[in-house]
Amino acid sequence: MANETDRILELRKILKEYSYQYYILDRPTVPDSEYDQLFRELEELEKKHPEMDDPDSVTKRVGFGVLDEFKKITHEKPMLSLGDVFSYDELREWSSKITNVYKDVEYCVEYKIDGLAMSLVYEDGLFQQAVTRGDGITGEDVTMNVRTVHSVPMSIPYRQRYEIRGEIYMPKSSFLRVNRERIANGEEEFANPRNAAAGSIRQLDSRICASRGLDGFWYHVPDDVNSDTHYGSLQYARKLGFRVNDATLLFSNIEDVIEHIDKTEKIRHDLPYEIDGMVIKVNSYAQQRELGFTSRIPKWAIAYKFPAEEVRTVVEDIFITVGRTGKCTPNAKLRPVKVAGTTVGFATLHNEDNIADKDIRINDTVIIRKAGDIIPEVIRSIKENRDGSQVRYVFPDTCPVCGGKLYRFEDEAAHYCVNSECKARLVYSIAHFAERNAMNIDGLGEKRVEAFLNAGLLNSFEDIYKLHNRRDEILQLEKFGEKSFNNLIEAIENSKNNSLERLINGLGIRQVGEKASKVLAAYYGNMDALMHASFEDLSSIRDVGPVTAEYIRDFFNEPDNVEMLEQLKLFGVNMNYIDNTVSNDSVFNGKTVVLTGTLEKYSRNEATELLENLGAHVSGSVSSRTDYVIYGNEAGTKLDKARQLNVTTLSEEEFEKLL
Ligand code: NAD
Repeated sequence: MANETDRILELRKILKEYSYQYYILDRPTVPDSEYDQLFRELEELEKKHPEMDDPDSVTKRVGFGVLDEFKKITHEKPMLSLGDVFSYDELREWSSKITNVYKDVEYCVEYKIDGLAMSLVYEDGLFQQAVTRGDGITGEDVTMNVRTVHSVPMSIPYRQRYEIRGEIYMPKSSFLRVNRERIANGEEEFANPRNAAAGSIRQLDSRICASRGLDGFWYHVPDDVNSDTHYGSLQYARKLGFRVNDATLLFSNIEDVIEHIDKTEKIRHDLPYEIDGMVIKVNSYAQQRELGFTSRIPKWAIAYKFPAEEVRTVVEDIFITVGRTGKCTPNAKLRPVKVAGTTVGFATLHNEDNIADKDIRINDTVIIRKAGDIIPEVIRSIKENRDGSQVRYVFPDTCPVCGGKLYRFEDEAAHYCVNSECKARLVYSIAHFAERNAMNIDGLGEKRVEAFLNAGLLNSFEDIYKLHNRRDEILQLEKFGEKSFNNLIEAIENSKNNSLERLINGLGIRQVGEKASKVLAAYYGNMDALMHASFEDLSSIRDVGPVTAEYIRDFFNEPDNVEMLEQLKLFGVNMNYIDNTVSNDSVFNGKTVVLTGTLEKYSRNEATELLENLGAHVSGSVSSRTDYVIYGNEAGTKLDKARQLNVTTLSEEEFEKLL
């Protein structure tokens, strides 16, 4: 089939170019998912056309050569890549090939760290050399640069030659800092932490590398004589002083491996470094030896890759949305594209500077990222794909909703519509007032507020408390029945009894969110005292500070706001702080508590509120300073870590007993 053979040649050419951009320039122009898809297509076609075999094809090679600037070093044993699978069924298929041969197989499962592979060699207990993977046979000597990575031991208590392999990576915090610095210096941002790490380790000036905050994990000792298993070998390496990932675990069947991968995927965004999948390795060295290698990959290991979170698409337009504070956020309207399991049609562009720094234009091809449940964002534009039809975006100077002038305050990247009558602001601010964490009026979300506003039923916070008089008009609205009306009125009535912090939060004062509202409510006790608090008094409160204090003063200096609060008071809205803190003899008083997994009787917010009311500090991560870890169903690595650190763990039942 001529078409297929042409396609093979075409794919080889495209993939070679992409590999060059990725491995040599550290500047990919397509997301990995797209590369992986083309790679698979090529593999399939090559299988169908053995007559087209070419040892130079990317499917037969590791990496893409080495940079001339570095001394070349031949690896004692080739440094290979990994085969990969993209679904659990493919993973099961891989494992069944192994269990067909061996009755008992143990799998060692590790995070697939998104960095670059590195080999470290020690002679007579001293660090001798660090070499990149290169093309698998020959790598680049980057010893001087790896010396700057603090966690790499310069000496180990081991006299024979010792080689260990692993991954050098850039932690997320370093990546954000380095990219911020690059923007400030007018340099192009790194596409992702992997490319940033590879670019940093291949600097000719090791001072630059030292400034990049790299780190490493070590996961493979070729031909280790100190253990019969891969896992044992890693424990030995840890004793020698190498940083071995704690999350490396053993499993004896593939379904348990899958369950573990599933859990890890849910917490991957909480990790301080990027992982792009999991690596599953046959643990026994004897079995590994028998299974062997291909020219590119070991047969005893496989990478399970997480679904792509970065994909390529086109910015069809840029438009502004106005939030409740009047903040105007630019958004990209995208050619719809599937990413991390959902179709995405919009992505945030954050602000004017971000558009300029990344030089994102209408009609640009861009890479977007959707990580966890974060709103998708445009990471970068691909300038190589421009064809002359791209248009620079000019940030408007008037509000797209009300036509009012937009302002950009000093030291702020955002533009604001300051017209308090702006309809967009009104909708969002009323919906925010009613939100669960504020006045908790169920049934008054954005859509409904907008419908009420359009019907002339709602124009201010006060109007909410008059809605019970508008029954007939409300019932005429589409999708509004008697039951919904009654529920809404009941929720509004109940909101009158809220403690003060909910009202403060609902007002939408800039920088005064849930936490600051709580602090202010507890400190001042009632709305009147807060309203008359001086700037000095406000700014002296921890968690408030001068900027927020000024916003609070601005809010109360506005006569309309004072009038609005007077009205709410007349409608019976409570203006006092209700201290819910239960007696302080609770075992949780003053303790640091971490919640993990899904509790059956409490939502995460409810459990947090309960614990905070008991005087506990609820933290998001486990450390040796944690007092309790309360776990529910599907608890993840936080629970494992707590156990490792001997932190007291409580099931939901035990937690309730202590309550
Ligand atoms: P890979 O990244 O898919 O997997 C192999 C590598 O995983 C190893 O070499 C090692 O560096 C790393 N790794 C991380 N944790 C590990 C662990 N615990 N145990 C063992 N290894 C671990 O393969 P690769 O050959 O390095 O790169 C190929 C991938 O690179 C492609 O699948 C593609 O996603 C990406 N790529 C992208 C482009 C592009 O243009 N976007 C171009 C070329 C390659």
